[in-house]
Amino acid sequence: MSIVIDKSKCIGCKRCRNVCPGSLIKTDENGKAYIKYPKDCWGCTSCIKECPAYAISFFLGSDIGGMGSKVHTEKNGDILSWLIEKPHGEVIKIDINQKESNKY
Ligand code: SF4
Ligand code: SF4
Repeated sequence: MSIVIDKSKCIGCKRCRNVCPGSLIKTDENGKAYIKYPKDCWGCTSCIKECPAYAISFFLGSDIGGMGSKVHTEKNGDILSWLIEKPHGEVIKIDINQKESNKY
């Protein structure tokens, strides 16, 4: 279970580094984020939801039925979208209205 960070998208804001409860994310000499201890990531998704550049994805491994898919989030107002990218290119989008997320 781990995330992957696309350095080409990273703008060096350090939000992911600050929010990771395990201090697993560091920044390199160019200010770009990377995960130093990927095996220790337990998939809380905090860094993914915090990244304003959508540079962080989470691997959905075969053990949870993901078969190599990746997921990242994008935010538009109260709507948090979860985008699942399948290995063959298909993208599934699930929108959650955060204002209503406490209803359930
Ligand atoms: S998913 Fe959670 S534990 Fe894993 S790197 Fe991101 S913030 Fe840290
Ligand atoms: S939150 Fe995103 S843009 Fe900011 S440092 Fe982390 S990966 Fe880079």
